[in-house]
Amino acid sequence: MDWEEITLGNGNVNQGHFYLPKGTTLFPLDSWGGNNKTKMGAQFSVTFPGTGETTKTDIDGKKRLLRETRGESKRFIAHHKLKPGDKVFIHKKGERDFLVSKRPPESPTFEAWAEDFDNQIKKALSTSEEERKKQLQKATGKSEKTTVTTTVFKRNPYVVAEALIRANGICERCKSNAPFERKSDGTPYLEVHHKQPLSENGQDTVTNAIALCPNCHRELHFGKNA
Ligand SMILES: [Zn+2]
Ligand SMILES: [Zn+2]
Repeated sequence: MDWEEITLGNGNVNQGHFYLPKGTTLFPLDSWGGNNKTKMGAQFSVTFPGTGETTKTDIDGKKRLLRETRGESKRFIAHHKLKPGDKVFIHKKGERDFLVSKRPPESPTFEAWAEDFDNQIKKALSTSEEERKKQLQKATGKSEKTTVTTTVFKRNPYVVAEALIRANGICERCKSNAPFERKSDGTPYLEVHHKQPLSENGQDTVTNAIALCPNCHRELHFGKNA
């Protein structure tokens, strides 16, 4: 992700501080300084649309906030009439060029989000047991929402229906019975897949469709030998 979301607390609004999320990797590593000006990090620029101000700052690594943007942040918060609970977004525009806005950045595509999450899982899997324990201990168990954009192909329901009727409750790949029946209407649960994906110019036709059990379907999309 090339942005971070900050939910404003009373402290942010009153003090004009933007506390940065824990573990953020948005900012250059050398910009994380100490807790006073004798231990400054390298500066980057931050622009505040609305008030039109741009300033240079490093990060107070102890308090995890933008050291030099207090006045600008306060004026930005006042200009946009932000209250505790509102969100601000810090977008990365360049290596040392950031922008604060009250609007969410354009949502990532679902695929970009999923790839990013996949990479986070890979990273988690490769950390030490000690580190994994530490991460789990500090977790609150609460999950925040995020928004992604999904672009879909419009599919022909008659193609799906025809493939399901043809399969008659049996996976057309492994020939096993559908693993369960649908809660909604008791019909066997199979998923209709396109042999040649629509995204690769496959046709939405009965001959390009195959009714699959969920295992076969996942394997065709994610399996090593698919
Ligand atoms: Zn199957
Ligand atoms: Zn599929």
